[in-house]
Amino acid sequence: VDTSDEIGDVAQTINTMAEKLEKVEQERHHLEQVRNDFLANVSHELRTPLTAIQGFLEALQDGLVEEEEARQKYYAVMYSETMQVNRLVDDLMDLMKLENNEINLAKFPVDVGEVMGKVAFAFRAETEEKGIALHVELPDELPKIYADRDRVAQILKNFVKNAVKFTEQGEIRIRAEAEDAYVRIQVADTGIGISQEDVHRIWERFFKVDRGRSKNNKGTGLGLAIVKELVELHDGKWKVESELGEGSTFTVWLPTVASYRQTT
Ligand code: ADP
Repeated sequence: VDTSDEIGDVAQTINTMAEKLEKVEQERHHLEQVRNDFLANVSHELRTPLTAIQGFLEALQDGLVEEEEARQKYYAVMYSETMQVNRLVDDLMDLMKLENNEINLAKFPVDVGEVMGKVAFAFRAETEEKGIALHVELPDELPKIYADRDRVAQILKNFVKNAVKFTEQGEIRIRAEAEDAYVRIQVADTGIGISQEDVHRIWERFFKVDRGRSKNNKGTGLGLAIVKELVELHDGKWKVESELGEGSTFTVWLPTVASYRQTT
């Protein structure tokens, strides 16, 4: 028996095992990194409003705010910062449940036009106040989609909320059209737009373009991450097109009832 061959085989096996172990270790390291980044982001997003609340509370407690009018302003800021903490916790819980598959969607045939109308109505006052036109464009006939109505509304609300937030003048268009086995839903704005560099990252949780610019951005940075999860759970597709200074168009495709019948 040629023992050198056997030794060679054993050495080879050990090498392969070592490589596999290395890969597992790298994977573990990566997961740990993702987890740490996530916790750092959550801490940062919570600390910002909490620090403000604490500061205002201390000033009030120390009797530093003498005028009633100023005091009312302090209360108002504290209230809005508390709301921000609430929004963050709500979004976080929602996203975690979606990511962990702990959410059962109640899927039924849904009339997209009806949902669009309701969402547009909810933002009417806000857009009018800002002087932005809000249009809903629908074809005469649109196939129903197989979806969770509340979740479709949530997707649209997230898009429109952002469109309103990041648009100073011009218009927002919400439109839907049938496209193959899907209904294509779009929210287009004439707002500040997103650079090519950032546009791919906006679906990441906690990502906000240029934190400086968005100091007044009372968002959580979780809205689009939630949208992405929801669209995936509907077997849909998503896309964003944007030009800095020109505006943005967010698109999702959700499967029609007919396409579902064919595949299931
Ligand atoms: P946020 O709660 O900050 O709005 P999102 O996940 O909804 O979080 O969006 C992530 C980031 O993408 C926003 O902070 C903003 O920088 C950018 N963004 C989203 N929608 C638009 C838009 N319509 N126009 C310009 N920038 C946008």
